[in-house]
Amino acid sequence: MNILVINAGSSSLKYQLVDIDTNKVLARGLCERVGSPDGIRKHVVDDNEVRVEQPLKDHTEALELVINSLLSGEDAVIESLDEIGAVGHRVVHGGEYFKKSALIDDEVIAKIDELAELAPLHNKAALAGIEACRALMPETPMVAVFDTAFFQSMPPKSYMYPIPYEYYEKYGIRKYGFHGTSHRYLSERAADILGEDIRDLRIITCHLGNGCSIAAIDHGVPIDTSMGFTPLDGLMMGTRSGSIDPAIVTFLMEHEGLSAEEMNNILNKQSGLLGVSGISNDLRMVRDASNAGDERAILAYEMYSSICKKYIGQYMALMSGADVIVLSAGVGENCQKMRRMIFTGWQPLGIILDQEKNKQRGFERIISQDDSDVAIIVIPTDEEYMIARDTYEIIHENSQIVPISAVQNEFV
Ligand code: ADP
Repeated sequence: MNILVINAGSSSLKYQLVDIDTNKVLARGLCERVGSPDGIRKHVVDDNEVRVEQPLKDHTEALELVINSLLSGEDAVIESLDEIGAVGHRVVHGGEYFKKSALIDDEVIAKIDELAELAPLHNKAALAGIEACRALMPETPMVAVFDTAFFQSMPPKSYMYPIPYEYYEKYGIRKYGFHGTSHRYLSERAADILGEDIRDLRIITCHLGNGCSIAAIDHGVPIDTSMGFTPLDGLMMGTRSGSIDPAIVTFLMEHEGLSAEEMNNILNKQSGLLGVSGISNDLRMVRDASNAGDERAILAYEMYSSICKKYIGQYMALMSGADVIVLSAGVGENCQKMRRMIFTGWQPLGIILDQEKNKQRGFERIISQDDSDVAIIVIPTDEEYMIARDTYEIIHENSQIVPISAVQNEFV
C-alpha cells in the first residue's frame, strides 16, 4: 500500500509517497512559499529533482500540483489516486487529548483546531493540509500523527512547571515536548541496532537540527524532554534561546520597551547560535568562524555543546545512568567537531567516544569505543517513515507490517 505523508507548515508543504510494503520512498518533495505568487515546488523521484517556480495560491492548489506530479509526466509514480491507500499528516500539537496517532474524523479535526491556541501557526497549517486532502481525496482515510503524543507518558513531576497550579488548569500550561515522532523513531531504531529490547534500555536521544531537543526514554517510556510548553524551551538552537532565566524576559521588555510579540520574536528568531555569534543560525558557518578565531563564534560553539552536555547529564541522573545515547538531525548526524566537544571528558562515567569512528561519514553508525559502557550511535531520523507506519497500523489495526529494521535509508 502507498501512503502519502504530508507535513504542512504555514507557508510550506512537504510530502513523501511511501510504499509501506517495501518501505520504499516512491517520490518526495516540497512546496515553498505557499500563499504567494513566487511559489517554488521541488519534486524528487530517485535522484531526479524537478524544480518549478510557480504561484501557489494555497495548500489545496499546492497539493493539486503535487498530485499531478505523482500521476503524470516522466516521473509519474502512480497511475490513479486510488493507488494512494491513506494519508498521514504530521500535526505539531496534540495537547493532552492525543496520546497516540488518531484516525482523522470531524471530532479529531475539531480538537486539532481547539489546540491551535497552543501552536497557532503549526496546527492551522496542519488543518489546511488535512482540508486540502479531504477536498481532493474525500474517500481516502487519513491519520494525524502528533509531535507531542510520544511525551504524554511523562509523569507530572516532569511536565508540571513550578508556577501557580491554576495556570495549568486554566490554560494547559505544562511541558508537552516536541519532535516526539523523531525521538520515538530514534529510540526504537537504537534498540534494533543493539539487538536489545527497548524495555531493557535507558536511552537518551538527541535531535540536534535547527530546532534541538533531547529526551530521556527509560525502558521504552519517555520520562522527560528538553522542549516544554512550546518548542522554545530547553537547548540553545539555531535562532531560539532555549531555557533562560525567565526574569530576563520582563527585564528586557521593561528596559527596551518591547511588546510581547517583539520579545517572542527575539527569543525565537534572533537568539541561539545566531544571537550569540552574530554570524548565523547555521552551525557550519559558526564553526568556520570559530575555526578562524572569531571569539563570539567560539563562545556560541562552546555554549551549544555545554548545554547539550548538561541535558545529557540531567537525564543520566534521572535514569541512574544510560545504556545508549543517540545523535541525530543536521548537527548530530554531520558535525564531528560538535560531537567531540559534547563527549569530551565523560570517561569517568563510562562514555568513551571513538575518535576515528566519530570522523566517519555515512548512515547509521556506532561511534563509541568498544569498551565504552554507554553506546553512542548516530542515526539519521526518519519522521516520515514513522508517520507512514502509524498511518498503516491505524487503518489496518490487525495487520503485520515490515519491522523498523527493514527501513531503507536511501532518502535520509
Ligand atoms: P531542521 O531542524 O531545519 O530540520 P536540520 O536537521 O537540517 O534542521 O539541521 C540543520 C543544522 O544542521 C544547521 O545548523 C546546519 O548547520 C547543521 N549541519 C548540517 N550539515 C552539517 C555539517 N556537515 N556540519 C555541521 N553542521 C551541519
